[in-house]
Amino acid sequence: VLGSDGRLGVTIFEEMTGLAVRTGAINLGQGFPDEDGPAVMAEAARRAIAEGSNQYAPGKGIPVLRTAVSAHQKRFYGLDPDPESEVLITTGATEAIAAAVLALAEPGDDVLTFEPFYDSYGAMIGLAGANHVTVPLHAPRFQPDLAELEAAFGPKTRVVILNNPHNPTGAVFGPEVLQRVVDLAAEHGAIIVTDEVYEHLVFGRPHIPVATLAGAAERTLSISSAGKTFSFTGWKVGWVTGPEELVAKVRTIKQFLTYSSGTPFQVAVAQGLGLPDEFFSEAADALRRKRDILADGLRQAGLTVYLPDGTYFITADTASIGFDDALDLARKLPELVGVAAIPVSVFCHEEGARRTRSLLRFAFCKRDTVLEEAAGRLAGLG
Ligand code: PMP
Ligand code: GLN
Repeated sequence: VLGSDGRLGVTIFEEMTGLAVRTGAINLGQGFPDEDGPAVMAEAARRAIAEGSNQYAPGKGIPVLRTAVSAHQKRFYGLDPDPESEVLITTGATEAIAAAVLALAEPGDDVLTFEPFYDSYGAMIGLAGANHVTVPLHAPRFQPDLAELEAAFGPKTRVVILNNPHNPTGAVFGPEVLQRVVDLAAEHGAIIVTDEVYEHLVFGRPHIPVATLAGAAERTLSISSAGKTFSFTGWKVGWVTGPEELVAKVRTIKQFLTYSSGTPFQVAVAQGLGLPDEFFSEAADALRRKRDILADGLRQAGLTVYLPDGTYFITADTASIGFDDALDLARKLPELVGVAAIPVSVFCHEEGARRTRSLLRFAFCKRDTVLEEAAGRLAGLG
């Protein structure tokens, strides 16, 4: 995300969505669903507005939402954060990430992430003046090598940002990798910031919140948001949970980023977090079918598909159909075949970008008919 001149440029999501709109291409680039989430939530937001929930919410979030976040973690994971002191509502996960990094990382500290990494991590680590140390994920399953993970830790390691399920690769990390991260963080006195916005979008493998692992709770800030779980990415309601002292630090920064977050949407998200278990499992099942539709299409087009265990992204290799530069291809793809995608190399530093240069990320959170149409168009590529 940092341009070659060291300044923050336009994000790849803006660029590719802009290109898709200009060319009329099917946008499998930026990750957002093309259907709205539960009608009861939209109705709850409308009612909240009609009934006057329109002024500033308390800085840490409305009590009913903080309680709902805590109850959701208890129901699914057996965690029990105190809604008063261990839950903070944010303006999307993006603000939670920004505030956590700014709160915890000092100039000169090392902050670790896997690579590829979600773009805002790199930007925020840069804005905090910290060093961004990366650990590569290796195809086909996009898992880290544990020796490389260990070697990345050092005396300056202050924060480890985990992202599970992982954007852009769709990888889900199992207990062995996660516990190793926790143990290494503990050994080096580092704090874990874990971005679990895709917690409910998993296909067969259970989601394991880092905070549930041995030795993790006291050093982990967990982040999630309503955007992906409920298909309301435009509402920008997120949250961070963890030990009181850490949440308080994040809140200190949040006060000066946005102070508080959209009141009527908080009311509606509180309602969503209380939906029955079937809502969450059916959403994942529907998404799994979409994954398979797009994966078949990409395979038929001749691409090598790395089937994801979570998120709503598929990573595919275009080298198999003769392309070597997916960034260049992504800029041409809308004109060529009428589909937009995101090159994986933009989620990397230089060396990682070389390793991932032929990979494209496709979002499959779209109506089945749209995915089928996109697959048909992509068949013209090979
Ligand atoms: N983290 C990851 C890994 C993401 O993919 C996204 C985009 N949904 C975000 C954070 C940002 O989430 P939000 O829209 O809630 O700010
Ligand atoms: N998280 C979404 C993605 O990865 C979109 C994020 C954004 O537009 N900043 O596509």
